[in-house]
Amino acid sequence: MYGKTIAFVKELYGSDQVPLSVPKFVGNEKAYLEACIDSTFVSSVGPFVDRFEKDMAAYTGARRAVVCVSGTNALHMALLLAGVECGDEVLTQALTFIATCNAISYIGAHPVFLDVDRSTMGLSPDAVKSWLAAHAEIRNGQCYDKHTGQRVKACVPMHTFGHPVRIEELAAVCGEWHIELIEDAAESIGSKYKGKHTGLFGKIGALSFNGNKTITTGGGGMLLFMDEELGARAKHLTTQAKIPHRWEFRHDEIGYNYRMPNINAALGCAQLEHLDAFIADKRETAGIYADFFRGEADIDFFCEPENCYSNYWLNVVMLPDRDRQQAFLQETNDNGVMTRPVWELMSRLPMFAHCQHDSLANTLWFADRVVNIPSSVRLIKK
Ligand SMILES: *Cc1c(COP(=O)(O)O)cnc(C)c1O
Repeated sequence: MYGKTIAFVKELYGSDQVPLSVPKFVGNEKAYLEACIDSTFVSSVGPFVDRFEKDMAAYTGARRAVVCVSGTNALHMALLLAGVECGDEVLTQALTFIATCNAISYIGAHPVFLDVDRSTMGLSPDAVKSWLAAHAEIRNGQCYDKHTGQRVKACVPMHTFGHPVRIEELAAVCGEWHIELIEDAAESIGSKYKGKHTGLFGKIGALSFNGNKTITTGGGGMLLFMDEELGARAKHLTTQAKIPHRWEFRHDEIGYNYRMPNINAALGCAQLEHLDAFIADKRETAGIYADFFRGEADIDFFCEPENCYSNYWLNVVMLPDRDRQQAFLQETNDNGVMTRPVWELMSRLPMFAHCQHDSLANTLWFADRVVNIPSSVRLIKK
């Protein structure tokens, strides 16, 4: 039934077995890793960490960037820095990877699942506005859930598959209700909203450099800040809260060992040199897919939202219903083209099934239709 699509993807990638998303090492990766090993500084100190932070700040336009060991602990740190505490409620989407909700849970805070937009697949400012209007009140300059009595401290939208959410409107509604905005930009490195890099619209942005992301450090994450002082505090907290001194070990609060090792940062520096080329390549691939699927009656290709420049981390097609989504998954995976459904919704997982949520109408609509199709960088002309 989907033979034409399968043949097209194999032709596009020039292979009979096409993975979903694999990393590409075409530049200075080996040279930097070798320099790192030769220097013996492979661990918690070394020049690649500083360089990676400076290069990423310059690339994104952040005033400060701070490395972490993973995107998950970057999110954990971001929530801690934003002042989220045990018992607080955090507004987020059910259509996300588990890391978003795990990070919220590490603090003992509770996710509240609100609907996504059909145009972005990310948290809807309209859904946030209506939930707050029905559930929240401001007391002493803080936002509270009238029904549970808990504080509503933060909002964590996620730029799904690299497509930016309506982030300016979310920033406005969060500002109005005294809620801290933290962007889960793990999937959206290089993606911009009205020309500005995702992750810079709220208090903190979190990126991931896991192996399946647009660029990788093996494993790793990063925090983006426009507030330099908060960035300095993140550096302190992610490095065991050690007071800098040439020989003394003194720590002034409970810190975390969340700093990315120098050897991972070396890989990151080399990967970053190719990020723009990778994104140009992925956008070209997305354009080719969009043209192809325009001719397929039953399959819609998801295109970047208005005002957005998307990295097209993972390409998305939408099937007409759940039965055909399952048939498409079966046939493509049986025939050498790796495809995946969207993550099981957070609101359906046993750990989060009891959490508050709204109708999730668009979320449920996407869950029955979305399939990710092969999206690796091709660099055919390299
Ligand atoms: C990848 C990802 C993360 C971070 O994952 P790590 O593997 O810990 O780097 C967080 N949120 C989302 C939505 C992701 O896709």
